[in-house]
Amino acid sequence: MFKVKAYATPAPDAPLAPFSFERRDPGPHDVRIDILYCGVCHSDLHQARDDWGGSLYPMVPGHEIVGRVVAVGEHVTKFKAGDLAGIGCMVDSCRRCEPCEAGEEQYCCEGFTGTYNSRERETKNLTFGGYSEQIVVEQRFVVKVPENLDLKAVAPLLCAGITTYSPLRHWKVGKGQNVGIVGLGGLGHMGVKLAKAMGARVTMITTSPEKGKDALRLGADEVLVSRDDEAMKKARGKVDFLLNTIPVGHDINPYLALLKLDGAMVLVGALTALDPVQGVNLIFGRKTVAGSLIGGMAETQEMLDFCGEHNIVSDIEMIRIDEINAAYERMLKNDVRYRFVIDIASLKA
Ligand code: NAP
Ligand code: ZN
Ligand code: ZN
Repeated sequence: MFKVKAYATPAPDAPLAPFSFERRDPGPHDVRIDILYCGVCHSDLHQARDDWGGSLYPMVPGHEIVGRVVAVGEHVTKFKAGDLAGIGCMVDSCRRCEPCEAGEEQYCCEGFTGTYNSRERETKNLTFGGYSEQIVVEQRFVVKVPENLDLKAVAPLLCAGITTYSPLRHWKVGKGQNVGIVGLGGLGHMGVKLAKAMGARVTMITTSPEKGKDALRLGADEVLVSRDDEAMKKARGKVDFLLNTIPVGHDINPYLALLKLDGAMVLVGALTALDPVQGVNLIFGRKTVAGSLIGGMAETQEMLDFCGEHNIVSDIEMIRIDEINAAYERMLKNDVRYRFVIDIASLKA
């Protein structure tokens, strides 16, 4: 065992504060990683504040982790000391069920083991995430990070990147399609970049008109302000695929109206109850509403390689670890352009 410094929250209504705990020494299949940067996902905030219920404390959040390998177990073949490595939302799963065997560990029938706010499968110890100096994870759940990208801006790809990449691929988004990304935050800005790189025509659908310029700079072809009833009316029936990243329950009916015949809207943001959906909005137009959860390990690697080839990273604002509570408050106020990333050097100092 070895000791690491971290930031943790002891309860839903308490701020994050310095904390230390012990990690296991690497076993034969484990990789020990010195964490360099960790992105701040809206899910960190949801779980720290117990928005979804069942949160486990003390909690060390953080599931957008990049760093350098410092040691590997004797059976590790994928990594050696000095390599760059990434860890996302999962550190384990049952590995036997149908989804696990298909490489979709995020849908493990027994539930995947989260990087934090979860329990290790054997020891039942709490898992602690990336707001910490080092982490030890089995190689199956560690991905290789392209060397050509700006490392601090790669961190958000490990959740925001894969969560948007996976549904865009699953619903075969590409050339000739009109795609709408709803919500310009951490996930949304990655959705725009990825959908554009896949060849789609992209409309950014936002509640914040002041983000319009940024949306175009990020690669959107058009901006649609969802609070502008006239503009929403004009845009009806034009979109093939909608990726909805809104983090809270809301009325999806106005967005369904934007879809063409056979269009689909995929929810990734709101885990809680939505306003009632009018059946007519689905039936007329044979429309689909679906959900999607992060992505499997193989697909996470595919996404990072895709980003390496297309030079795609996140637009970030670096913070020190002691600025994390202020960052959460800013995230609640929709004041992020477009992802906070913690410089873990500030924790080690
Ligand atoms: P974020 O950076 O806070 O961005 C969310 C964006 O949604 C905001 O920038 C805002 O964009 C829009 N928005 C916020 N509140 C809204 C409201 N009340 N009504 C309409 N639009 C609103 O959050 P994020 O990190 O992208 O995460 C988004 C959600 O995805 C969170 O709930 C997170 O927990 C979830 N998530 C899910 C998965 C998964 O696997 N499914 C993975 C990661 C995260 P505009 O200003 O443009 O309107
Ligand atoms: Zn996340
Ligand atoms: Zn499984």
